[in-house]
Amino acid sequence: MGEIVTVVGGGLAGSECALQLARRGVRVRLVEQRPGHPSPAHHGDGLAELVCSNSLKSTKEDTAAGQLKWELTRLGSVLLGCARDSSVPAGGALAVDREAFSSRVTALVESNENIELVRERVDALPEGPAVIAAGPLCSGELFEAISAAVGGERMSFYDAAAPIVDAESLNRSVIFEQSRYQGEGSTGDYLNCPLDRESYELLVRKLVGAERVLARDFEQRDLFCACQPIEEVARTGLDTLRHGALKPVGLVDPRDGRRPWAVVQLRAENAAHTAYNLVGFQTNLTWPEQRRVLRMIPGLEGAEFLRYGVMHRNSFVDSPHALDGTFSIPGTRVRLAGQITGTEGYVEAIASGLLAALNVYADLRGIAPVLLPATGSLGSLVRYATDPETRDYQPMHVNFGLFPPLSDAPRNKALRHAALVERARTDLDRYLQGRPELLCPDAA
Ligand SMILES: Cc1cc2nc3c(=O)[nH]c(=O)nc-3n(C[C@H](O)[C@H](O)[C@H](O)COP(=O)(O)OP(=O)(O)OC[C@H]3O[C@@H](n4cnc5c(N)ncnc54)[C@H](O)[C@@H]3O)c2cc1C
Repeated sequence: MGEIVTVVGGGLAGSECALQLARRGVRVRLVEQRPGHPSPAHHGDGLAELVCSNSLKSTKEDTAAGQLKWELTRLGSVLLGCARDSSVPAGGALAVDREAFSSRVTALVESNENIELVRERVDALPEGPAVIAAGPLCSGELFEAISAAVGGERMSFYDAAAPIVDAESLNRSVIFEQSRYQGEGSTGDYLNCPLDRESYELLVRKLVGAERVLARDFEQRDLFCACQPIEEVARTGLDTLRHGALKPVGLVDPRDGRRPWAVVQLRAENAAHTAYNLVGFQTNLTWPEQRRVLRMIPGLEGAEFLRYGVMHRNSFVDSPHALDGTFSIPGTRVRLAGQITGTEGYVEAIASGLLAALNVYADLRGIAPVLLPATGSLGSLVRYATDPETRDYQPMHVNFGLFPPLSDAPRNKALRHAALVERARTDLDRYLQGRPELLCPDAA
């Protein structure tokens, strides 16, 4: 195919995108700013660097993350294969040796005759067909250029968010629903996790001692204007949280009729009450530490995190309102991929890069765009990220809450998840059978 496609950013999305295009015979110019212009979070020069945790999450078939891996295998993801080849033991999760993973991806890119790897920073929207996968720390001038193209109000560049947990993973024998001052038996907008003195003080100690994502200078400046992370508030004194975000006043634990020592409140994220955020828990702790420490809160022992708390620069576009259904900037040949579209997480970034490659390929061949069934992990995330009906768009991991409900949903959670997975697989298989030109011969 004649035209050269520019891919900006040799991270997870950009590397997958470039390799997918190249294996379909498309020539690619992959432009990565490092090492000449390092990002604030990357440490090395290699492509597809994992900036924080080395976990690519669950491989279990009955999880949305596991289903995403199945879909990526079906679509022939190159980076998922590299991850499996670089894996380290991690129970039911896929964790990788990050250096081995990055080295594998870099070697594949460098040895590919259809890819020219250029080490320079891109400051303007490229001419011709292009995919921008510059990540959550997209450099300043390029960020400005995207902002000018989509309209400044369509960009977010700072993210201070509390973690969001799956409603089904909450221990309702401990957590009680009640509004402040309404008393026992009231229903309300909040769920309350009661802490006695011992569990409160343990939580404060663990918050203070937990590992944080390194705050760089740029983040310190931004933090000044944003709300403080919970662990910083905890650091100011043992009782500070009890008089602030965790204050128990006006709440009565129905199990003993008394006011708890402290309370962590959960607020519904959506009308269906399938997801809750931890009120006041915006945090800079690493993701594994959030899992470890926040699961010490009574009632959250088995919490499944739909989204982790973040306090860092996070450049993302309001995709549902700024981009079209295939993540293109309307009126241009430029498409966005990866976290900059708000599809959050390592494997989501890989998936987004793969999908961008398929859509660029479809454009170049003049065939129909790739619109995956919305019943799968990737398809439902894409629908969330591109549906103009999506309000107050925030970055999101794949999760079952994004799947359209089943018409005859089993009440049992395990059976329901199994049914969602089965429907997702059937629908994707059917879609791909109708679009054989999208798959490479070496894909499953
Ligand atoms: C501090 C931090 C911690 C995180 N922790 C986790 C975690 O533990 N687990 C998880 O799943 N996700 C985590 N994430 C989210 C993570 O960024 C994404 O999941 C994933 O890395 C995004 O992939 P990407 O390809 O979109 O961006 P990246 O992997 O960041 O790749 C973008 C690439 O573009 C390059 N680039 C930027 N601007 C330019 C330019 N102008 N010209 C050329 N190249 C450019 C960058 O150098 C980089 O190599 C974290 C993010 C941050 C910022």
